[in-house]
Amino acid sequence: MNQPEDFRQAVREWLEDNCPESMRSPLPSEAEACWGGRNFEFYSEDQRLWLERMAERGWTAPTWPTEYGGGGLNREEEKILKEELARIHARQPLISFGISMLGPALLKFGSEELKQQHLPPIVRGEIRWAQGYSEPNAGSDLASLQARCEDRGDHFILNGSKVWTSYGDLGDWMFCLVRTDIEAPKHKGISFVMFDMATPGVSTRPIRLISGKSPFTETIFDDVRVEKDQVIGTLNQGWTVAKYLLTHEREMIAGSGVSSAGTMSVSKTATKTIGTDNGVLRNTPLRADIARYEIDERCLELTIERARDEVKAGVSLGAAASMFKYYGTELNMRRQELLMAIGGNDALVWEGDASKDGDTPRQWLRSKGNSIEGGTSEIQLNIVAKHILGLPG
Ligand SMILES: Cc1cc2nc3c(=O)[nH]c(=O)nc-3n(C[C@H](O)[C@H](O)[C@H](O)COP(=O)(O)OP(=O)(O)OC[C@H]3O[C@@H](n4cnc5c(N)ncnc54)[C@H](O)[C@@H]3O)c2cc1C
Repeated sequence: MNQPEDFRQAVREWLEDNCPESMRSPLPSEAEACWGGRNFEFYSEDQRLWLERMAERGWTAPTWPTEYGGGGLNREEEKILKEELARIHARQPLISFGISMLGPALLKFGSEELKQQHLPPIVRGEIRWAQGYSEPNAGSDLASLQARCEDRGDHFILNGSKVWTSYGDLGDWMFCLVRTDIEAPKHKGISFVMFDMATPGVSTRPIRLISGKSPFTETIFDDVRVEKDQVIGTLNQGWTVAKYLLTHEREMIAGSGVSSAGTMSVSKTATKTIGTDNGVLRNTPLRADIARYEIDERCLELTIERARDEVKAGVSLGAAASMFKYYGTELNMRRQELLMAIGGNDALVWEGDASKDGDTPRQWLRSKGNSIEGGTSEIQLNIVAKHILGLPG
């Protein structure tokens, strides 16, 4: 099949046959998103089926090579698939740090064995990954990290701790930055390792947030065995892998400013909640703010699309990921402010079925972390200033 329109038709037919009806509407609350993993409990049989069918086509990771379980699609086909999913308001079948962060790093730096071992389970949503980067004294200055892997011949022994591990208590495996050479300059003695979080010596402690939830943990390593064949890239040169993964993390976070398929647009939420007069949203000042937001959202969406096309054509995304991360998170914070304003008093309700357990205010509070996670806004602005604008340090 060579023609894009043939592909579109085939996708449309497949989705018609395979996307369960109940998966064709916005998620009722973020809490119902599918993250997969060993212990994930599906909210419905349809949710399980939807993941299984999409994974079977490799369409949970549409552009990854088919030999690793991906869809093998080119950029144009990927765009068509996205458009067709959005057209029927299909929910994202799987949200996964494995797909958005680890996978790209494995594809670029991983050995063939590591790709074969880890990529197919990621595509199928069987393993949930956690990110072990930040430490109490290594956040913005990440290369100061102290968690240490000592060489014990055929394996390493890991000691130390990580902090702000998103969903650390739910993670099956962790990708983690560790120090493997304590004599080397700080950027030079770091390695990128992976291990099963069920390994003896790994424990997590919840950190409770302003939103009342505890989506992340401290993660403690006490004599944890790490296999030597679970190093991505070259030993002591993990910083290169870490930085590459961060560009993908920032791109993923930037996407939070853009209504993805499966979430209701701000204007639709407004017309549904506030109501219309002759088809026009009632609340005039809010209308202008929503229009401004949705224009900016569309512009970001198109700019990210253009950048992705350039990446496929061989241009490195590099520092542009920082620009997108900064702008996308500002946009998501605006989005959450608007959703609160649209909800009015009702948006302040914290508990109970009618409020979907306070989904709106909890998401609004959660969005405050957007300017911190994946590198703070100040750090992104530093990168833009130095590497895009060429300003002096
Ligand atoms: C919601 C959320 C999820 C997260 N998930 C994970 C995860 O799964 N795994 C993980 O490893 N980490 C995670 N993090 C941690 C995150 O990466 C760090 O919080 C972040 O990198 C900032 O580090 P820090 O908290 O140590 O702040 P610090 O680095 O101490 O920064 C404090 C303040 O100083 C400013 N600052 C620091 N250095 C500079 C500078 N050079 N120039 C200008 N300003 C500067 C910062 O902008 C910030 O305002 C998460 C964080 C959040 C909020």
